Amino acid sequence: MSRPVYMDNNATTPLHPQVRETLVEALDIFGNPSSLHGLGRTARQRVEEARQEVAAFLGASPDEIIFMGSGSEANNTVLSIVTCPSGACSLAADGANEIVTSTIEHPCILESVKCLEERGLTVRYVNVDSDGKIDLDEYKSVVSERTSLVSVMLANNEIGTIQDVRMLAGIAHEYGAQFHTDAVQAVGTVPVDVRELDVDFLTVSAHKMYGPKGVGALMVRKGVPFCPLIRGGHQEKGRRAGTENTLGISGFGKAAEMRALEMKAEEPRLREMRERLRDGIRDRIPDVRIVGHPTDCLPNTLNVTFDGAEGESILLYLDLAGIAVSTGSACASGSLEPSHVLLATGLPMECAHGSIRISLGRENTMDDVTYVLDTLPGVIERIRAMSTTYQRRAA
Ligand SMILES: *Cc1c(COP(=O)(O)O)cnc(C)c1O
Repeated sequence: MSRPVYMDNNATTPLHPQVRETLVEALDIFGNPSSLHGLGRTARQRVEEARQEVAAFLGASPDEIIFMGSGSEANNTVLSIVTCPSGACSLAADGANEIVTSTIEHPCILESVKCLEERGLTVRYVNVDSDGKIDLDEYKSVVSERTSLVSVMLANNEIGTIQDVRMLAGIAHEYGAQFHTDAVQAVGTVPVDVRELDVDFLTVSAHKMYGPKGVGALMVRKGVPFCPLIRGGHQEKGRRAGTENTLGISGFGKAAEMRALEMKAEEPRLREMRERLRDGIRDRIPDVRIVGHPTDCLPNTLNVTFDGAEGESILLYLDLAGIAVSTGSACASGSLEPSHVLLATGLPMECAHGSIRISLGRENTMDDVTYVLDTLPGVIERIRAMSTTYQRRAA
């Protein structure tokens, strides 16, 4: 019997019921937060309360939080600083004009640095090992006095591997470089503290932590050079123009408040479900590989590769059974490209095609896990039965 099971929480999360309540109530707060009258002040108060919640959740101070339209916007903003036209806020001081990043970043980082490369900046890409961990020797060899900015994600969205950001940031700081981390996938799943991580910039997104879509934030440490991407009004202390998304920001604040209350208790439960899934899949299905670091990994993320089965076929069969997961590959304009993250871990091209990402969330139960474990073996068997190359290899 089919039942709806959502296990694609790294793509987006369902609204927390209390966030939903906050959003419904905030629909009627229509004042412009910049207006001085009562309606404006009510809206302003909402925005500032949310800023306090988000800041507290990250261990930052409220004036270090800039609300933005998405995690993608926050990442684009950070990378745009290195080409800021005003010398005063440019990070590219004294010939330091190199950017260091990793090969497994989110597309909004990789596409942005590609654009900087086209504009003449030097970008150094650090490789990862088979578990998705930054190659430390290589990192140490590319970070130098010429480095202006390092951007390395905290947790990877496809395989869940968590980087030792504190150490990486320390090395960058030794050379006077600024350090940014895309923490979108980590914040709300594992504890994140900007002081502990010692980062200069940190990106978050509300819809990955049971908040609404279309709202994110960039943490900019006090005293760090900054340059806005979106210019205009004085909103966000001149750091991001445009009338504040009062509704989205209210929901974001509530989401942060709820995560602060619930996240810790949830972690062991997520971990247990993930382990049950991983062991169950290994026991029931031959020729599988699990990609991701065995210990330094998000408790909710499981990336599995099945030899001789296309990820897209697995996804569609599971969807028929009511189960929502995603593939490790991004579907670009009809052509199915294998995931750059899986390829970076050294997984062969043909295997990278056979991967699915299962990402758990607060609404999942052990019954969901059992249902997936009951469904998946039959799906893989059917797909493999149609694969001539798999049959030949098995014979
Ligand atoms: C989802 C995601 C983003 C983009 O956030 P949006 O708010 O959807 O633009 C950036 N980085 C990572 C790691 C993500 O998982």
